[in-house]
Amino acid sequence: MKNTIKQLKEYLINHNIKPSTIRLKVLEYLLNNRIHPTADDIYKNLLPQIPTLSKTSIYNTMELFANNGVVKILSFDGKEAHYDVNTELHGHFKCRRCGIIYDFNVPFDIPIPNELKEFDVKEVDINFYGICHKCNKQRGQEM
Ligand SMILES: [Zn+2]
Ligand SMILES: [Zn+2]
Repeated sequence: MKNTIKQLKEYLINHNIKPSTIRLKVLEYLLNNRIHPTADDIYKNLLPQIPTLSKTSIYNTMELFANNGVVKILSFDGKEAHYDVNTELHGHFKCRRCGIIYDFNVPFDIPIPNELKEFDVKEVDINFYGICHKCNKQRGQEM
């Protein structure tokens, strides 16, 4: 599904973000590429369209997006941040072989542990790590 510029603009305005060319392009990229990209991925993909683009402007855009609830920042193995335009609670599985980050549904509410009852929990991350089904198959064939 392609989003019109009008829809993208409204989406940003609804999140209290003034639409600019870079912000609209980044949002469009995120909505069309649900791969949990890094700032580098976004930069490399948009550079041909916006030759004046800098890495700093991508970082600034992502920080603004994160602060206004457009993206969630994900961190795996303490490596470079990945961005997820799906901010609803869902789990992630990172394959340690191919590096692909898979989404999975969390079909229940996460109970707040007793020890944290008086805390204000703002975010919950559910990260699984291992070898994905595709790499598992490949590995079976190699052996
Ligand atoms: Zn894999
Ligand atoms: Zn995700």
